[in-house]
Amino acid sequence: MLHIGCHLSASGGFLAMGKTALSIGANVFQFFTRNPRGGAAKAIDEADAAAFLALAEENHFGPILAHAPYTINPCALDPRTLEFARETMADDLRRMEYVPGNLYNFHPGSHVKQGVEVGIEKIVETLDLVLRPEQQTTVLLETMAGKGSEVGSRFEELRAIIDRVALADKLGVCMDTCHLSDAGYDVAGDLDGVLREFDRVVGLDRLRAVHINDSKNPFASHKDRHEVIGGGYLGLDAFERIINHPLLRHLPFYLETPNELDGYAREIALLRGLYRE
Ligand code: FE
Ligand code: FE
Ligand code: ZN
Repeated sequence: MLHIGCHLSASGGFLAMGKTALSIGANVFQFFTRNPRGGAAKAIDEADAAAFLALAEENHFGPILAHAPYTINPCALDPRTLEFARETMADDLRRMEYVPGNLYNFHPGSHVKQGVEVGIEKIVETLDLVLRPEQQTTVLLETMAGKGSEVGSRFEELRAIIDRVALADKLGVCMDTCHLSDAGYDVAGDLDGVLREFDRVVGLDRLRAVHINDSKNPFASHKDRHEVIGGGYLGLDAFERIINHPLLRHLPFYLETPNELDGYAREIALLRGLYRE
């Protein structure tokens, strides 16, 4: 079964997101854990979480993906910025335990002028502080486009982080197709080669989710501008290969394309039409 969905607004709570997902043909979704511009997250409504879990089970949902605010920097130089990232992630993970067994995705961060090695060390420290042995959420490092001083645009950097984290069994990777192409991994032209490289460096058993986005920019541009499916440099054929690939087809796919709900509904229908059962 194809598990596909998109990014949804979390303002109405879990059950509302589940119902919205169903209304657009989705059986997974992603959401931000809180307003990226800061502020405290709303308290979790346990009844809402429980009602969502029942709806998800009834409708054979795949895992839902909570996305950390993209404004935090888990390898910041400034101690207060770093502390804010760590507190945010720890709080998000505590809240995710109300919907156990799902996924939490974050951007490894930007090392700014510290260098990638220091960046990696700080990310490892961040994860060692926020991961708990008893947690039931898998934390995903997202593959990045390599804009500015972003860490995580090379598979080797993700591997270096995973290797050094004490509770590495809580970690996985989320591939973003726009970011991969922008970073110089040719997902459109050589998907097999990219997956072989990922397996060699990180291990395919770490791959838990895929963000499916076309890219407004050509291969290796290091830009990170998402485009609608088929409207960018990757092209529709690439997405047909991605969702059907024997090593990917069982994974949940999340659209983060520039769309409103009706556009997401159309992209989900389009991709479902291309999926070979
Ligand atoms: Fe992201
Ligand atoms: Fe993404
Ligand atoms: Zn992006």
